[in-house]
Amino acid sequence: MLLKLFQAGEPVLRAKAKKVTKANLNSVAIQQLIDLMIDTVRDYPGVGLAAPQVGESFQIIVIEDKKKYQKDLPANLLSEQGRKQIGLQVLVNPVIKIIDSEPLHYFEGCLSVAGYRAVVPRARIIEIKAWDRHGKAIKIIAKDYFARIVQHEIDHLNGTLYSDKMIKDSFMSNGVYSKKWSTADSQKIKQFL
Ligand code: ZN
Repeated sequence: MLLKLFQAGEPVLRAKAKKVTKANLNSVAIQQLIDLMIDTVRDYPGVGLAAPQVGESFQIIVIEDKKKYQKDLPANLLSEQGRKQIGLQVLVNPVIKIIDSEPLHYFEGCLSVAGYRAVVPRARIIEIKAWDRHGKAIKIIAKDYFARIVQHEIDHLNGTLYSDKMIKDSFMSNGVYSKKWSTADSQKIKQFL
């Protein structure tokens, strides 16, 4: 079963998501929500999904970046972005610390801002502390594209959308993005900065 993706304008996307307690995390309802979030993000496919995007105001995100999602992108762009395969990550109550705040500028899209893209600055290296789906404490250092995805998803838990942080002149439809910008490297993106 796939979950309905809530779109910008729905209040749940602007609310601060609730922390998950250990007892709640072990409930059938939350474990099922996590399974359905994974099915939903894989179906689109997207590289990340936060619970508020499916109308559930909980601090839960799922992230996964597969090689096949990257197959149409030039190798030099993937290498510049530091974009690699990311195995499935379920992060509960994540807290991040910026390790290297140097902003990198690349395009992002969002399943809750369907049909658009924009350039968003994101810190290059972050540390994440969270629980996995079973409540085990985990600590991850995320760099480059992985760090970008995590920052985007954690913003959802705070009611923030990428459109709040984007470089305004770079906001564009998916149609224009596909035609002119989907392979843009940092040099080309500079014209928006
Ligand atoms: Zn999003």
